[in-house]
Amino acid sequence: MIQFEQVGKRFGDFVAVDNLSLRLADGEFTVLIGPSGSGKSTTLKMINRLVEHDQGRILFAGQEIRSFREEDLRRRMGYAIQSIGLFPHWTVAQNIATVPALLKWPKARVAARVEELLHLLGLPPAEFSRRYPHQLSGGQQQRVGVARALAADPEVLLMDEPFGALDPVTRSALQTEIARIHQVSGKAIVLVTHDIDEALLLADRIVMLDRGRVVQDGTPRQILLEPASDFVTSFVGRSE
Ligand code: ADP
Ligand code: MG
Repeated sequence: MIQFEQVGKRFGDFVAVDNLSLRLADGEFTVLIGPSGSGKSTTLKMINRLVEHDQGRILFAGQEIRSFREEDLRRRMGYAIQSIGLFPHWTVAQNIATVPALLKWPKARVAARVEELLHLLGLPPAEFSRRYPHQLSGGQQQRVGVARALAADPEVLLMDEPFGALDPVTRSALQTEIARIHQVSGKAIVLVTHDIDEALLLADRIVMLDRGRVVQDGTPRQILLEPASDFVTSFVGRSE
């Protein structure tokens, strides 16, 4: 579904991503992991063209991502990040409806979709749909951010450290939620984290990065039992 062929990205002289090749299969839950500055966010943002790559090719559904209009690409890929602001003067329901409204879905369809997503994310609509972001806890805001990313039923869900700022109990609840969403929807998910426990819990496949390069690409079991280098061993051992 998404393919990187020897992709590179520089910022000035600095090589943020170096010769990266990857294949992300349909329906697969891929976790990109690595230390801070290893190129995880840059890699994720190259998928929806928030960052343009400057070497190699990136394909989505068999076509170069540059051949898609950016709006079309972003519509087909939900994107959720830790610090993305919900619109403060919009209700929860309006926030979730952002993309469907842009796509001019009929009102009844939007309303039904919002309700469905609130249920899916464990936020009963009667209680939450009319609230404003400041009337929500951090974990609830994060759930709304994920619901918004899912609203137009994208083919891929991209998430960048979506639970990073949350307390452990809330984080664990949201991890369970995402695992369930993956199971029921069968969507391709690419999640960025620096938390190895999160990666081992959620991933079908873990891609570990260090200084812009892939150091290992394998199942959680392979990462645990057949680490490709001392770097992998020490990263896995450094559980939070
Ligand atoms: P990660 O998400 O793994 O922490 P990033 O992909 O955000 O890492 O960044 C990788 C490297 O590229 C870092 O050293 C970062 O400082 C650098 N970088 C990222 N974005 C920019 C930018 N817009 N301009 C200059 N350097 C950047
Ligand atoms: Mg990052």
